[in-house]
Amino acid sequence: MTALLPRLGDTSHIRGPIEAEKSLKELVWFRVGGAAELLFQPADEADLQAFLPLVPADVPITVIGLGSNLLIRDGGLPGVVIRLSVRGFGGVAEEGETRLRVGAGVPDKILAAKALDAGLSGFAFYHGIPGGIGGALHMNAGAHGTDTSERVVEVRGVNRKGEIVTLTREAMGYSYRHSSAPGDVIFTSALLEGIPEDREAIRANMEAVSEHREKSQPVRSRTGGSTFKNPNGLSAWKLIDQAGCRGLRIGDAQVSEMHCNFLINVDAASGHDVELLGETVRARVFKASGVKLEWEIKRLGLFEAGREVEPFLGQV
Ligand SMILES: Cc1cc2nc3c(=O)[nH]c(=O)nc-3n(C[C@H](O)[C@H](O)[C@H](O)COP(=O)(O)OP(=O)(O)OC[C@H]3O[C@@H](n4cnc5c(N)ncnc54)[C@H](O)[C@@H]3O)c2cc1C
Repeated sequence: MTALLPRLGDTSHIRGPIEAEKSLKELVWFRVGGAAELLFQPADEADLQAFLPLVPADVPITVIGLGSNLLIRDGGLPGVVIRLSVRGFGGVAEEGETRLRVGAGVPDKILAAKALDAGLSGFAFYHGIPGGIGGALHMNAGAHGTDTSERVVEVRGVNRKGEIVTLTREAMGYSYRHSSAPGDVIFTSALLEGIPEDREAIRANMEAVSEHREKSQPVRSRTGGSTFKNPNGLSAWKLIDQAGCRGLRIGDAQVSEMHCNFLINVDAASGHDVELLGETVRARVFKASGVKLEWEIKRLGLFEAGREVEPFLGQV
């Protein structure tokens, strides 16, 4: 058992499961990576509030959502990993004519469906994103020319002291696939604003989103979505293609033939295979074009000893 659990003190009042050395592989889309020293899945927001002050200040806390944008390294995550379940954080409620109060555990696709029920447009892009609302709020998830920042009125969360915090859209500090909200706040819900529209038009938009995805992205593969951010005015996939990386393979990690800004775990890749492939792509793109691609995927945790991967393979 990890030495961390006793350091939390009395946890008898905590309702959600706290598990030591819990493998995270099954919780992320890539299906790679090591274990969490402790994994806590709060029963609800009050449970999260009760738990957070128990964690000693020197212990790192990492929150994960549905794991569709994460590369977990093989050495695992030290400290506490927190995952918000659909059961505890999965509510969607209409507020007035145009707003939805959405729990951070709600899958994006469910939000798109609920917005359709409510006759609100502006949410169809979520129909094609396999993450949850907590991740969407953090990543400023978006597609088809729109993103999460355009829908946010305010975000509610819990800070490390266990206090409830409310952040306006401005305080979320949104830019392309990024939020600069305070790093210790775990988002628990958000108030989102839509635009009233005819349901048939909304449904048609959602169908167009699905159709586009099926044709252009390896949506049924073990992947983390777009690997690198699009550099200003450029497409990451074009740079990767021009650098000759389409289909490039290291171990069981491969640059998708279908969309070369996607890396896929073909079968039994390790976190090391995927990250090494990503850094190889960055090094080759830099050599071919002079552009330094920036990871969009969040890489979390420790390398296994002796299997470290240097940015740009150490060539930049
Ligand atoms: C096939 C595929 C297609 C994709 N297409 C798109 C796309 O079109 N557009 C797009 O933007 N993304 C896309 N993605 C990436 C991904 O789905 C999004 O970034 C998504 O918003 C991540 O949500 P998640 O719940 O999976 O978060 P995770 O991947 O689990 O976490 C992502 C980040 O959010 C943080 N986070 C998660 N929950 C919380 C919370 N409650 N409070 C604070 N921080 C939190 C985590 O710490 C982490 O830094 C795609 C991924 C895949 C696999």
